[in-house]
Amino acid sequence: MKADAFSLPADTGCGAPPEREVLRERGQREVFCGLTGIVWLHRKMQDAFFLVVGSRTCAHLLQSAAGVMIFAEPRFANAIIEERDLAGMADCHEELDRVVDRLLARRPEIRQLFLVGSCPSEVIKLDLGKAAERLGAKHAGQVRILNYSGSGIETTFTEGEDACLASLVPAMPASVPDAAPQLLLVGSLPDIVEDQFLRLFAQLGIEQVGVLPARTADGLPAVGSNTRVLLAQPFLGETAQALEGRGAQRIEAPFPFGAEGTTAWLKAAARTFGIDEMHANSVIAPGRERAKRALEHHREALAGKRISFLPDSQLEVPLARFLATELGMEPVEVGTPYLNRKLVARDLEQVPESTRISEGQDVDRQLDRVRADRPDLTVCGLGLANPLEAEGLSTKWAIELVFSPIHGFEQAGDLAELFARPLRRRDVLKV
Ligand code: SF4
Repeated sequence: MKADAFSLPADTGCGAPPEREVLRERGQREVFCGLTGIVWLHRKMQDAFFLVVGSRTCAHLLQSAAGVMIFAEPRFANAIIEERDLAGMADCHEELDRVVDRLLARRPEIRQLFLVGSCPSEVIKLDLGKAAERLGAKHAGQVRILNYSGSGIETTFTEGEDACLASLVPAMPASVPDAAPQLLLVGSLPDIVEDQFLRLFAQLGIEQVGVLPARTADGLPAVGSNTRVLLAQPFLGETAQALEGRGAQRIEAPFPFGAEGTTAWLKAAARTFGIDEMHANSVIAPGRERAKRALEHHREALAGKRISFLPDSQLEVPLARFLATELGMEPVEVGTPYLNRKLVARDLEQVPESTRISEGQDVDRQLDRVRADRPDLTVCGLGLANPLEAEGLSTKWAIELVFSPIHGFEQAGDLAELFARPLRRRDVLKV
């Protein structure tokens, strides 16, 4: 590895510890684009519709990623940009208006419509912001119309959710000035996991809790200087910034993975709301104990095993923290598409110093490092898993970590199992 590939430690001054060295890569990427987020967002937001303004490639991506929806009345679709549009022979805005009018007439239950930009819509510079404004005014009172980009030029994988949630922030009503502090849970979680957290907040005594994204359009929470933001996902940098722009304050915490991550996350919220520590401990203890017992099952299989993450979902740093501190794994390299130091600070400080942290991707160089490191397990995208398996390296599909419920106490054991399973499979195949 070349020394000049590392960024220089920042001069933090005042005796503060120097920033951790990060290997920055700027080369070819192997990551899904932000359109993929529609797969989980349309399930979460029950009266929303996602209209991708894109090409047949975008349509194929969504159809194969969310193929199951073919059996239901889908809540996403593609307005296909044809050659005529690309050649500037058609008025794309007129055509888009026609598609949206037809859609809303046919599906009156839609309350939120997202116009989702793609690579082709960006290439022809189709202004979806203007289109959303124009169509929003036309259908005001019936449906909220917003836009964001899921294009592969601008976004990777989970950044699609970030862009979607950030587009909702300006639509959030302003909270009443001087109102009591309100907790805002931010990040799309499976309903069952969200409900578990909401029950824990209620038991802690945090009464006012909003959720972004809300399940329905009329549940969009208010925001203002009394809002305290607790992120459930580490990839929501733009959303966090937009909320801070509306006066909200972010609660610093590690992300809620495993027994200790979830404990620290809940305690950070409890502290912010002045909850008595003894009471917080008594609410948290049963779930924490259950999670620790569930993790114990997997410790033997995982402790001492070396793991590398290729950049994919931005969940990599918090997951590496979980695997290292709660299961004794040894993260060799933790690659992430973007490293938002502020958001993952509490996790990053617990990732062992010996772990190489890399940001961005240069896929060939990254694969060379994996081959040289020969970790016991490599977490990577679908396209890289098979070639690595063929070389005798065990892999885990990173996408499973996004599509599976993995947050919180009750899911801690399942999260560990996701990493233990490929190692077990490897051992069985060896036999
Ligand atoms: Fe491909 Fe771009 Fe469409 Fe994503 S948005 S499917 S990267 S063409």
